Amino acid sequence: MEQNDPPQPAPDPVSAQGLTALGCLYARLDQEIAQNAGKRCATCGDCCHFESAGHRLYASTLERSLLARQARPTHPDASQSQLARGERCPFQVKQGCAARQARTLGCRLFFCQDNAPEEWNVRAEAWHQELKRLHDQLGVAWDYRPLLPL
Ligand code: SF4
Ligand code: SF4
Repeated sequence: MEQNDPPQPAPDPVSAQGLTALGCLYARLDQEIAQNAGKRCATCGDCCHFESAGHRLYASTLERSLLARQARPTHPDASQSQLARGERCPFQVKQGCAARQARTLGCRLFFCQDNAPEEWNVRAEAWHQELKRLHDQLGVAWDYRPLLPL
């Protein structure tokens, strides 16, 4: 590499097999959510406005890899400064999600109106631990941190 070459991004440590396994985990979680009558989402998109919702979106190594390979951050509705401050998700388009298939465990598990919060918190933690175990099984380092900046 020449002295003035721009720094190269680190190689993605996640294999195609790893992303398939993550997709299977997401599919099982989606099934569990669909079977839980207490979970309702009006798809208003408010929770993707991190600043006003009062939270941040975290993602693991596998989750960031899937997002990077399957979704493009379109962010037509957010300013550069909002994105830089981590206030808005760059995958949100109007009220929808441009990364729906690849959205994170946190996106899938979040419900603003929860009829059984305690039970669901236990389930959410169990899914989080399962995601962690998947990293171990695949030999992928567990690096869980805010998704933004990308
Ligand atoms: S979880 Fe709540 S805030 Fe988020 S999209 Fe669904 S209804 Fe809106
Ligand atoms: S990835 Fe999609 S669901 Fe998750 S915060 Fe961004 S827009 Fe919302």
